[in-house]
Amino acid sequence: MMELPNCPKCGSPYTYEDGTMLVCPECAHEWSADAAEAANEDQLIVKDANGNLLQDGDTVTVIKDLKVKGSSSALKVGTKVKGIRLVEGDHNIDCKIDGFGAMKLKSEFVKKA
Ligand SMILES: [Zn+2]
Repeated sequence: MMELPNCPKCGSPYTYEDGTMLVCPECAHEWSADAAEAANEDQLIVKDANGNLLQDGDTVTVIKDLKVKGSSSALKVGTKVKGIRLVEGDHNIDCKIDGFGAMKLKSEFVKKA
């Protein structure tokens, strides 16, 4: 049997399922089991230079000239990067940039476009 999460409101362990909803018998809080599952997923928290949360598929702008490994040219301020993908690690943005190809960036050097 699937283990049900505690009530997010009062922390009661006596939650039960009612259709697609989870119900707490102690404080009568109801919430969607799907939402609870999504919240439990390990979500990458990646923020841009301004502290805005970034998401997969976002377009960002490079905010400083960046040297590119294996390339003689640098990535210029203002370069738009479309369709980023968030990854774990020091360089937490996976992307493709015209003229450079697939590369990784640090989120602190970009801002959400
Ligand atoms: Zn409750």
